[in-house]
Amino acid sequence: MATTTQVRRWWAHRRCQRGIPITLLGRHGVLVAPGTEQLWRAFEQTLLATGYGLASNIGSHRNCPAGIGGKTCEPSGKNCSLHNYDLAADVDPWAFGNPHFRRRFGNGWDFSDIKFTEEQVRAVEAIRTTQGSQPFRWLGWAIGDTMHWQINVPPSDVEVDWGTVPDADPPEPEKGDEVLKRGDRGHAVTWMQQRLLNWNPDSLPRFGADGDFGAETETAVVRFQQAHDLDPTGVIGSITATLLHDYAPTTVPADVLRVGDTVRLEPGG
Ligand SMILES: [Zn+2]
Repeated sequence: MATTTQVRRWWAHRRCQRGIPITLLGRHGVLVAPGTEQLWRAFEQTLLATGYGLASNIGSHRNCPAGIGGKTCEPSGKNCSLHNYDLAADVDPWAFGNPHFRRRFGNGWDFSDIKFTEEQVRAVEAIRTTQGSQPFRWLGWAIGDTMHWQINVPPSDVEVDWGTVPDADPPEPEKGDEVLKRGDRGHAVTWMQQRLLNWNPDSLPRFGADGDFGAETETAVVRFQQAHDLDPTGVIGSITATLLHDYAPTTVPADVLRVGDTVRLEPGG
């Protein structure tokens, strides 16, 4: 298993570069480093074959200079997350109570806490390149960052050995570009509402960030889209979601934190 430091060295030329957008597990616009597309296809196929289904949200890119834990991603690679290289994907970060955001790193979580099953994690870890390397590393085992998968091979070793990838039907091609829409509820909705409020504190006057995507939230999304020259659909698609990211008050939703908590992000990757 390569260390994150080794991966940073292999891919140093991709530090702070924007990757190319792919559709992964039904989510449009996931940014990945050029050359890794086939690896992510194998990743997707493996999860679909083992019943994971489509994702409601995938985080990939992180803008420099923000590195690990709010530190600066330095030219040497120090304090850089592999998200600064578009070599990592956080799959369904708000699914269930992600232990990463509950700061239960490596202790006290189990598979009943998260959306991945152990079988699914093991199946992704069993993927091999044609050179026999394991191309994906999961940070759930070491630090409880159970949403985080990172590339674990150099640019010269990205050919998939498809014999190690279980067969699956391709994802339904037209799922639309919906991340969140009216009627949705939960952490992801709260997360988006907090960004709407950070954009315009008056945008949700009655209900605030209540985790319920109702009429008030829909109206706020329309206004946000109009203010950003997007189609005013009231549905949060990948582009609206990406622009909302710019209004992050913090990268952790408030409802999983308590007063006195110390926020520590991306400790390993
Ligand atoms: Zn991550």
